[in-house]
Amino acid sequence: MATDQDIAFPTLTKSQLETLTARAHPRTVRAGEILFAEGDRDFCFFVVLDGEVHIVEHSRGDEHLVRIHGPAEFTGDVDMLTSRKALVTARAARDGRVLAMSATELRSLVDDIPELNEIIIKAFLMRRTILLSEGFVGARIIGSRFDPKAHVLRDFATRNAIPFRWIDLDGDEGADAILRQLNVPASSTPIVIGRNGEWRSNPSLADFASCAGLTYALDTDHVYDLVVVGAGPAGLAASVYGASEGLDVLTLDSVAAGGQAGTSARIENYLGFPTGISGAELIANARIQAQRFEATISVPCEVRSLGIDGGERIVTLVDGTRIRTRCVLVSSGVEYRKLDVPRFSDFDGAGIYYAATGMEARLCRGEEVVVVGAGNSAGQAIVHLAKEAKHIHVLVRGSSLDAKMSRYLVEQVERLGNATVQLNAKVTGVDGNGRLSAVRYTIADGEERSIATNALFLFIGADANTIWLRGCVELDKKGFVVTGSSLPATLADTERWKAAGRTPFFLETSLPGVFCAGDVRSGSVKRCAAAVGEGSMSVSFVHAHIARPA
Ligand SMILES: Cc1cc2nc3c(=O)[nH]c(=O)nc-3n(C[C@H](O)[C@H](O)[C@H](O)COP(=O)(O)OP(=O)(O)OC[C@H]3O[C@@H](n4cnc5c(N)ncnc54)[C@H](O)[C@@H]3O)c2cc1C
Repeated sequence: MATDQDIAFPTLTKSQLETLTARAHPRTVRAGEILFAEGDRDFCFFVVLDGEVHIVEHSRGDEHLVRIHGPAEFTGDVDMLTSRKALVTARAARDGRVLAMSATELRSLVDDIPELNEIIIKAFLMRRTILLSEGFVGARIIGSRFDPKAHVLRDFATRNAIPFRWIDLDGDEGADAILRQLNVPASSTPIVIGRNGEWRSNPSLADFASCAGLTYALDTDHVYDLVVVGAGPAGLAASVYGASEGLDVLTLDSVAAGGQAGTSARIENYLGFPTGISGAELIANARIQAQRFEATISVPCEVRSLGIDGGERIVTLVDGTRIRTRCVLVSSGVEYRKLDVPRFSDFDGAGIYYAATGMEARLCRGEEVVVVGAGNSAGQAIVHLAKEAKHIHVLVRGSSLDAKMSRYLVEQVERLGNATVQLNAKVTGVDGNGRLSAVRYTIADGEERSIATNALFLFIGADANTIWLRGCVELDKKGFVVTGSSLPATLADTERWKAAGRTPFFLETSLPGVFCAGDVRSGSVKRCAAAVGEGSMSVSFVHAHIARPA
């Protein structure tokens, strides 16, 4: 069976080399020549024909040799496809010969030749895993685990696959020494230290993203075919289908690609993954797939409003940037609900969580944890957190765990030795001093009880992310976007639809050329596969609209 090293560093066969030779540019290299350096963007892909290329990185201060590529081996990792900055340097160790290809040429190669696609993409993904497991240090985030601002930065880095090391002021012995070295007080945290030693106190997400090489300069003169707002499963599916079918697609997300699915510890019911798949893995693959087809994914880009200018749709970001497009896909999903109890906002992000990824599970190692909710997302979180937490107190408002949770999850929860379920429970308050220390609740007898805890996980439903659409497209009473035949029949009499000469397509909103898919759509099935299906389907309506615009 192939090992991780075999997958990450394959040797190309003679016929694969011949295929590459026909499409790449041969060149000689001199000993010591840098082929690409840490921090470079849009660097080339190299296949070694003769000689040796050393891959090195300096994230720990001094130089570390990552890999020596000999003949028939190739350079590169996922950042070749995502257009992020390189994390490593490639240096010719001897005089030799290589084949070179630009990132665009590489993308078209992997599109055309499935055999090479599989080898190269699998190698790129595995190389990143190996690099991180071998001690590569990305950015460092220093802060208190109970500080909401530190939580936002950590969450952003995790969800955007930015390599980082978390240094906890409350638990890491080295934290004080670093602050002394930087000559800053603890009150200036959270601090992000970049790989080049540059640091920023309390940076905005935009600053952090730009520091990590995530941000693109958006072209405001360009008219896109499709702007996708929200890069959850629906938006990513539309990006993959749209870009692969030749549309010029820009995908925007206020936080990260992945949406809710990216925060799911394990999705058990997604077709094609019989043993389940973690949300992070599913999304990492989807993101690479979209970028491979040259969809541009830009984060953090929060959309503030949608408008019309003649035949164009205008998407305006919170920083005022106006983006022009023929069509828009609304796939902005839903936002988690909060508890209406006193002092809630004091601990939001400082002990109160809405997702249970590996990062949150590690923060709760050996601790008492409270989970509120009884749907499938609560069930998955309980099972996942139980691996690390000392004990999980599950508070359920209804009188049974079965009402909304799938039977397989109920059974898993019931089998746990370190989880207790309290039915008919209502949270009445949260306490703490700077950090969450207790959750209070009542049950049927009305007596208030308290659980000492530093971690409260909420899975109590969600509201549509449609504030940016108010007054622009038809929403239902709960704020979800109405589409297709659910729109009022009187719409047909409006000038706009008379000009279009047709009725709205199935996934079209009350505004021609603006489509909607996924959880944010009124009446949609709130599931990952449903969101992916709708996102994929929406692309055919985009084609139809572009062919005959309103
Ligand atoms: C913990 C958890 C576990 C789950 N497990 C499962 C499961 O096992 N199986 C299953 O089928 N489903 C599961 N689900 C549900 C599934 O994840 C959702 O149905 C799916 O993610 C919906 O996809 P979406 O693309 O419609 O929206 P979302 O995933 O909600 O994505 C919307 C995106 O839009 C972005 N956005 C919002 N507003 C703006 C704006 N103004 N500007 C720019 N971007 C914006 C958000 O940042 C977000 O990334 C789970 C959900 C959760 C929370």
